[in-house]
Amino acid sequence: MEGPSLVILAEDLQAFAGQTILAVDGNTKIAKERLNGLTLQSIRSWGKHLLLDCGSLSIRIHFLMFGSFRINERKEGRIPRLSLEFLNGEINFYSCSVRFIEAPLDSIYDWKADIMSPSWDGIRALKRIRQFPDAYVCDILMAQDIFAGLGNIIKNEVLFNLKLHPLSKVSALPRGMLKKMVQEARDYSLKFYAWKKEFQLKKHWLIYKKRMCPRCALPVELQKTGVGQRRSFFCNSCQKIFNNPILLT
Ligand SMILES: [Zn+2]
Repeated sequence: MEGPSLVILAEDLQAFAGQTILAVDGNTKIAKERLNGLTLQSIRSWGKHLLLDCGSLSIRIHFLMFGSFRINERKEGRIPRLSLEFLNGEINFYSCSVRFIEAPLDSIYDWKADIMSPSWDGIRALKRIRQFPDAYVCDILMAQDIFAGLGNIIKNEVLFNLKLHPLSKVSALPRGMLKKMVQEARDYSLKFYAWKKEFQLKKHWLIYKKRMCPRCALPVELQKTGVGQRRSFFCNSCQKIFNNPILLT
């Protein structure tokens, strides 16, 4: 799940804010009994983390590749990783990573790096990217300390919109392109959120999981690219590769 989906989930869970945890279940290895009787004070997200603030401690849920959830229902035949029961319903998480965070969330999380946050700071992201001149754009977009919440779908669509090949290098981009990339990453994430809310996300994908480039009508390339070796869908014809460092004269 990418950042925008986590924001939507946090919104969907607001009905449980202020509710007391009456029972805890699940096959997580954390000492879940500690949660009994605590009040769920707030629900928010940072990047790909769902954060359930219970005052003296918080629960951090990371859905990894195959995590899922159910609100007020259970998946048949599946044991939840963590199940929280309240007077007004229950939340069940499956196949995800569950951890406790003991320190206040504001002391741990850098909200300015969250691509969906009102505190998002694009100028700082730009400065940080410039510290990695040799990085490929496909890797830098997925760096969670710079673009927290940006996932593989957003990466592919952003690069397509900018006509940038995923194996372009940061230092080789034409003037102004990095700034455009940071802006597009933010703009596309907000659009992703709006489309997903309307259940219209997939129909807006232009390159992700597509067979043909909508600009050139040529076959889409699919390769695992960069250091992260994540799947990149791209068009070799209209997405230009910049990989030679520009020599300053
Ligand atoms: Zn194309």
